[in-house]
Amino acid sequence: HIYLDNAATTPMAPEVIQTMTDQMVNDFGNASSTHYFGRQAHTVLDNSRHILAQSIQAKDNEIILTSGATESNNTAILKTAMQRAGEGKRLITTAIEHHSVLKPMAYLETQGFDVVYLPVNEQGVINLADLKAALTPDTILVSIMMGNNEVGSHMPIHEIGQLVHESNAWFHTDATQTYGLLDIDVQADQIDFLSVSAHKINGPKQIGFLYVNDAIHLPSLLLGGEQEKKRRAGTENIPAVAGFAKAVELLTPAVKAEHQAQYTAFKQQVLETLKANQVAFEVNGGLGADRVQHVLNLWIKGVSTYVLQMNLDLAGFAVSGGSACTAGDLEPSHVLIAMYGKESPRVAESVRISFGKDTTAAQLDAFCATLTKIVEKNLAKQHAKD
Ligand code: PLP
Repeated sequence: HIYLDNAATTPMAPEVIQTMTDQMVNDFGNASSTHYFGRQAHTVLDNSRHILAQSIQAKDNEIILTSGATESNNTAILKTAMQRAGEGKRLITTAIEHHSVLKPMAYLETQGFDVVYLPVNEQGVINLADLKAALTPDTILVSIMMGNNEVGSHMPIHEIGQLVHESNAWFHTDATQTYGLLDIDVQADQIDFLSVSAHKINGPKQIGFLYVNDAIHLPSLLLGGEQEKKRRAGTENIPAVAGFAKAVELLTPAVKAEHQAQYTAFKQQVLETLKANQVAFEVNGGLGADRVQHVLNLWIKGVSTYVLQMNLDLAGFAVSGGSACTAGDLEPSHVLIAMYGKESPRVAESVRISFGKDTTAAQLDAFCATLTKIVEKNLAKQHAKD
């Protein structure tokens, strides 16, 4: 089986597994305990936090460890709303966010908040003029993702940070699909909150962080112990934290640059091969240097997502159809609908492939050959019926 679904999750790096195993065997202490075992665990926590903070140009005390981007997104949105309800009731987001942003927003609408969903163009990018027009004095939060998980669009984060900071609002960005691939600088981009999950970068699942600008104090979403300086209750998962930091350490600037170049080349390879094989397709969101290069979403004209995904799976290729992170569920993609409209055939005839550090050119050749056969067979079947 060949794995081409790295935007959904990635396999853990062997070094990460080793680090976590060592932690589990040697350091089982509770980081809140004041004895030797607790202190050992606390040292691992501190060292790991430092690595994570440095990776986005933040200070150590600005990193709150969470169970992943879902919790980070929920915390930033729900706790900002609770904290700032007296100042205003408006929040701004986009139509193509992950459900872990859209669902807390929908919940806030039931609680009397007013949420603006900015539209996107066919590249999956917002128009800055729309954001500017939507930013009223009573706007308390703007939540716009850095990179989109389904189509790989990359939002103009620097310009958004500037616009938001001319207003009263705080700026949250979900960086789950760009962290570890692109350089992130929360200072330069004036980001107040940033969400990340470790399992997208060959780290463990159910661990991530929320960066919170230290000028802001957000109370904990979970109520209980006083961990993470009272900002996230619950005993820390030290092996996972250490594994996360190891995954980040492995992503040196040279490795990141190599991945970026590799994924860009992989994209070209797939497109050129499918073209040479005369497959009728288009790239959802288009191409362009300023896209998240590990994600490639293809509209395969005339063949349904369901048929594509099922036949690829039978042939041993793991890809994603429909929405990411909703495995097994082929709901039409809210991202493609926002980009092209409900009636567009793209909504029902697209698949996403996403590259990772273990992807090879040979795997992609095999993928293209198989996809071509599936498409030819299904189009021939349809013609036979006509
Ligand atoms: N945000 C984006 C853009 C994602 O792609 C994902 C992935 O699943 C998440 C948030 C949620 O991450 P997790 O499921 O690790 O909490």
